[in-house]
Amino acid sequence: MLAAVYHGNHKLEVEDVPEPTTGEGQVKVRVSRNGICGTDLHEYYDGPIFISPSDPHPLTGHSMPVVLGHEFSGVVTEVGAGVSDVKEGDNVAIEPIYRCGECRPCKSGNYHLCNSIGFHGLMADGGMAEYTVVPQNQVHHLPDSIPVEMGALVEPMSVAYHAAVLADVNDQSRALIYGAGPIGIGIWFALRGMGLTEIDVIEPSPVRRASIEALGARTLDPTAQDVAGIVAEASNGDGVDAAFDAAGVAAAVESATICLGERRPLISVAIYDKPIPTPLLNLVLRERRIQGTICYTAEDYRAVIDLMARGHYDTTGWVDTIPLSGVVEGLEELRAGRRMKLLVDPTA
Ligand SMILES: [Zn+2]
Ligand SMILES: [Zn+2]
Repeated sequence: MLAAVYHGNHKLEVEDVPEPTTGEGQVKVRVSRNGICGTDLHEYYDGPIFISPSDPHPLTGHSMPVVLGHEFSGVVTEVGAGVSDVKEGDNVAIEPIYRCGECRPCKSGNYHLCNSIGFHGLMADGGMAEYTVVPQNQVHHLPDSIPVEMGALVEPMSVAYHAAVLADVNDQSRALIYGAGPIGIGIWFALRGMGLTEIDVIEPSPVRRASIEALGARTLDPTAQDVAGIVAEASNGDGVDAAFDAAGVAAAVESATICLGERRPLISVAIYDKPIPTPLLNLVLRERRIQGTICYTAEDYRAVIDLMARGHYDTTGWVDTIPLSGVVEGLEELRAGRRMKLLVDPTA
């Protein structure tokens, strides 16, 4: 079968590899779509980062080369011995986390913070291939109302949903989202799904503003508008109940720490390449805080799948599909900012 195999920095080859076989407790999936993630870009341009060049991962036993792809959906074609609840023909979305089950985070229900965490598609052969094999605890059913292709968006939308959950907001809350990339869009969908109506998306790029506005979002241009002044006026000086940094730039963090209400969180979901100046005094004086967020758990997956089944996620204007043979061009398009979200079709 064909697969996009990562061999190191700037080395991603679409090549013929053996089809994986299904072992005990495992499920074989014919991949429908696999999204390209910012993490994949980092591995290609700056990596290897998460992918180990030589040491086998403690949970998967795998190192480079590896088939990329951790955001995917597909159809089950085979199940191994001991697999229950999943059968051939099921449409599924994959939650690509390997966890040890033994460490403190695992035992306290936070397996997404497992001390030995691994990801399918980074520490095991992933979804940029015609077939992939996963442990059954990574499988989530997709109901018939969700097109199987769309299931590839459950992973990134769950990253965003988890961030929204950590903000502890309700339908009366007011929120700011910094950055209208795929995760910013996902946070907007998550907050809307939780009933919020007072959401402003802060985004300097006119192209990105236009694409989230087309989905129904309200935006502000931080290069031309006084975000803090607008927020203060709209909230009678109270500030917002939550801010989300999906931009990862100093200006966003500084603005957020001014716009937040007292004791409210800045949820930090960006990948920071380097330390950025943070005006901590803005936190101290109003007991505001910064809360990191990473990944998701099965609960977030279920919430996103429920919303998706109700048609909540509109992909118009920000999601495109490319063939597996075009994956390197896809990385270049994303890096240049010419595309927002790309799904790879391994059968094309
Ligand atoms: Zn990802
Ligand atoms: Zn663990």
